[in-house]
Amino acid sequence: MSTDFPDLPPLKDVIREHGLLAKKSLGQNFLMNPSVTDYIAGSAGDLTKGTVVEVGPGPGGLTRSLLRAGANNLVALEKDERCVNALHQLSLAFPNRLTVLEQDALTFDYSSLGDSPVIIVANLPYNVATTLLIGWLKLIADKALPIQSMTLMFQREVGQRITASPGSKSYGRLSVLCQWLCDTYSVCELPPSAFTPPPKVHSTVVGFKPLAEPRFNTTLKSLETVTAAAFGQRRKMLRQSLKKLDVELETLLAEAQIAGTRRPEELSIQEFGQLASTYESLAV
Ligand code: SAM
Repeated sequence: MSTDFPDLPPLKDVIREHGLLAKKSLGQNFLMNPSVTDYIAGSAGDLTKGTVVEVGPGPGGLTRSLLRAGANNLVALEKDERCVNALHQLSLAFPNRLTVLEQDALTFDYSSLGDSPVIIVANLPYNVATTLLIGWLKLIADKALPIQSMTLMFQREVGQRITASPGSKSYGRLSVLCQWLCDTYSVCELPPSAFTPPPKVHSTVVGFKPLAEPRFNTTLKSLETVTAAAFGQRRKMLRQSLKKLDVELETLLAEAQIAGTRRPEELSIQEFGQLASTYESLAV
């Protein structure tokens, strides 16, 4: 069993003192057990170098674990003013290592973090989790932020979609977009009872290691367009589902060397790359 910082009040006291009644609209499901948060922080690799970004620190359970795991420059982005106030004591205890910013992670200017490698770790608010993820994938694709790794909590079905292989029922748009740019892997699963209050769903922590170069040359926009069309009608053959794209269908399939009789879940990440880059060359 991990020990918490002895000089800091237990998390339940922080929650009580600051009246942190969980807000559903902010996806607030807190992790109270330091063994769980230590495990998540420990799975994020070396935190001593670079900038560690935590989205949604809440009352600070995972934040404490990230500090315990050696994060030297931890920036925590929190939208809820009540949580920002609740974290004041922790910032005072770690004045040179922790910066808490009252910010919306969806609109935050990540370029303000500087040039050092960025490690993102978060128990994400589920209502905006995939939007945040797509935003970070865009930063990786554009080489706009040197993201070294991401360790992120999602609801279990979303985690399964991110790591899914071709042929499986979870394989879809999110699998292709993530695995185009990153190696992805499941870190651990957590039941609803691991959170306060418990959510209705099971959860999964997913690890992301961005590749030095994407698996193939295309743009996030083209890959999003092609995968949205293909998986939008996932039981249909590609010659049907890709009709909605604004290019000549037979030329697209011939140049990408993909048979129109195939279904989207059969295509490898690489084959989606062929489709997206061919689509891009034809759509201009
Ligand atoms: N990290 C804490 C933990 O594990 O106990 C809290 C995680 S809770 C699932 C999600 C947190 O994200 C909440 O503290 C919530 O206020 C915050 N949050 C929700 N939307 C946000 C946004 N757009 N930007 C920044 N923080 C947000």
